[in-house]
Amino acid sequence: MASLEASPLERGLEWDTPLFLMARAQFEQAVPHADVSPMVVERLGFPERAVIVAVPLRRDDGSVEIFPGYRVQHSTVLGPTKGGVRYDPEVSLGECAALATWMTWKCALLRLPYGGAKGGVRCDPRALSPRELERLTRRFTSELVREIGPQTDIPAPDMATNEQTMAWMMDTYSMQKGHAVPEIVTGKPISIGGSVFRREATGAGVVMVAERACARLGRGLAGRRCVVQGFGNVGGVAASELHEKGAVVVAVSDVSGGVYDEGGLDVPDLHAHATEHGSLEGYDRGERITNEELLELPCDVLVLAAREDQLTGANADKVRASLVVEGANGPTTIEADAILAERGIPVVPDILANAGGVTVSYFEWVQDLGRLFWGREEIRARLADKMSDAFDRVYAVAAEKGLTLRQAALVAAIREVAAALEARGLYP
Ligand code: GLU
Repeated sequence: MASLEASPLERGLEWDTPLFLMARAQFEQAVPHADVSPMVVERLGFPERAVIVAVPLRRDDGSVEIFPGYRVQHSTVLGPTKGGVRYDPEVSLGECAALATWMTWKCALLRLPYGGAKGGVRCDPRALSPRELERLTRRFTSELVREIGPQTDIPAPDMATNEQTMAWMMDTYSMQKGHAVPEIVTGKPISIGGSVFRREATGAGVVMVAERACARLGRGLAGRRCVVQGFGNVGGVAASELHEKGAVVVAVSDVSGGVYDEGGLDVPDLHAHATEHGSLEGYDRGERITNEELLELPCDVLVLAAREDQLTGANADKVRASLVVEGANGPTTIEADAILAERGIPVVPDILANAGGVTVSYFEWVQDLGRLFWGREEIRARLADKMSDAFDRVYAVAAEKGLTLRQAALVAAIREVAAALEARGLYP
């Protein structure tokens, strides 16, 4: 059995943040069940490589401000690294390290030929104008030009970044290379080589695994009462998919707070309001509740699609859902995981539940490299195959070893990377 003593704590100093310690603690819980060598544990316990860059931005008023930017590449064992770029006041080296680590497990679990990466700029994106965001994105991309590449590290959208951000990244990289390089990023507009169904993929994938999990629990999704935290690219799409599948969406929330209707919300109407007003603020067809209250509502399925650190030691004992599905990365802390496991509430973990995004990112990259385009139905069917295959493998490991779904997903993922690492051996 692998020993974690081979990793002196000092090796982790650079990454020392609560989120990385959480990713690390999850790894430590899973490793004893994965039956891998100490060499594997030692190599996968911390990221392979990271860069910190200073990103100068000329503000619209002419002044210059400098923002810290990061890119962490966790593992290159299975292929180029892959993962999003986020703009958020919380972005740090340690946060990117945790998110890059989870991307490695996510890609390995879905059997995509990638390792994990994550990056971002520490800024408040809501305080920046569209032209400032464009300049920030182009300069950040230029600073990373030696780190990223279609065969080395392929960025994608994450919190507060979108198709437009990816278009600026693609254009900046392409201008520096002297020719169009669509395969440098995924999640870009269809007009420049993006894939149909990429924007919906994460939310749709969340619902695909929720449906499979409900089936395993002996129930269908139709008629199930669902609560969705987050109404952006993941939560908004998940709410629509749930609604279309006949589930009853009783509550949703965004940064402006939550809306609750015991009888079920009109999801298309919520979208119409959010599109017109930019958020759910002012929506009055339902009871207004706080995000904290939303997490404690009685329901069959609770989808966490906002951000990390939502279910903690302080509120996990108040959760009244029968199933938790993680659309966001890292929304459940180690303490909350233990409480939910103790209470018999299964959690479909982030690295499985939200893997639809990176899976269709992989389809996008394959289409770009082959200069070909697949149709919507083909992509949806390929995604559904990959998500159900991964869910079934995780479920089998959980049943065989008596583990939580998170531990089982990590065990399955670690084994995939370990097999590749053992086959490749240590260079030189
Ligand atoms: N940012 C997304 C995630 O956390 C997608 C990454 C990608 O498509 O590369 O999975």
